[in-house]
Amino acid sequence: MDALVPILPSAIQSVYNSAMKSALTIAGFDPSGGAGIQADLKIFGALDIYGLSVAAALTAQNSKGVSAVRAVESSFVQRQLTVLLPDMKPDAMKTGMLYSKANVEVVVNMIKKYRLRNIVVDPVLLSSSGKLLAEKGAEKVMRKKLLPLATVITPNIHEASVLAGMVIRTFDDMKRAAVILHDLGTANVVITGGHLEKGAVDIIYNGVFTFLKGRKISGEFHGTGCRFSAVIAARLADGCGVVEAVQQAKTYVRQSMKQTFSTGKGMRLFNV
Ligand code: PLP
Repeated sequence: MDALVPILPSAIQSVYNSAMKSALTIAGFDPSGGAGIQADLKIFGALDIYGLSVAAALTAQNSKGVSAVRAVESSFVQRQLTVLLPDMKPDAMKTGMLYSKANVEVVVNMIKKYRLRNIVVDPVLLSSSGKLLAEKGAEKVMRKKLLPLATVITPNIHEASVLAGMVIRTFDDMKRAAVILHDLGTANVVITGGHLEKGAVDIIYNGVFTFLKGRKISGEFHGTGCRFSAVIAARLADGCGVVEAVQQAKTYVRQSMKQTFSTGKGMRLFNV
């Protein structure tokens, strides 16, 4: 066994370290490996965090887009969590595609029951290809019950518009939406500006604004939002502060955008 250790990646070596931190993703299954649970686990592994995952939805998709979605029954999402959590309590968690109102309710109840902490909510509503990834009304349950429990939420402009109940066209609109979402009880609101015409400034609002500038990288990428929130969860699991975790996530995703590849048929895919 000893002879193997030098060739193992650092993530595997750290399994031998009893202080290994863990993060849980509750999200959607993506057969293309680009988004959802698959992306989150790759990120957790790349950042030396042991990944736990609970499936809340299934998708049929490839690099061209999402063709079909199915919610996992909420009673089975609950079963996955009630079996997993008494055994392994994650140092941080993120939610991605939960799809149904009932699944949002289950996640809310489980966060409370198991006193989970370092909660990153990526309020997934729509794919880049235009497919609905949440049923009608799920955004209302998120707004009322899930967002107040979140340490960090990471909506893009479209999601922030829906959740804050306003149209975001300008940078000032983004700031207003961040305040509205913070007033719901979310400790740290991060709105990513990549979809705003004029560039890629992200906003963090926790009572004080922090702006993260960065030039827009052109191209269509699959799974950018999932990766961003997964890096934040991984860094929080490691004990990092929220603003630093978000800054590192932005840098990480920007760097990995430069290392994407294309199948030639659809969006560019990340390796990690
Ligand atoms: N599939 C799953 C399971 C997702 O969670 C998401 C986004 O969060 C997507 C697809 C959409 O990914 P994108 O819009 O980056 O293509």
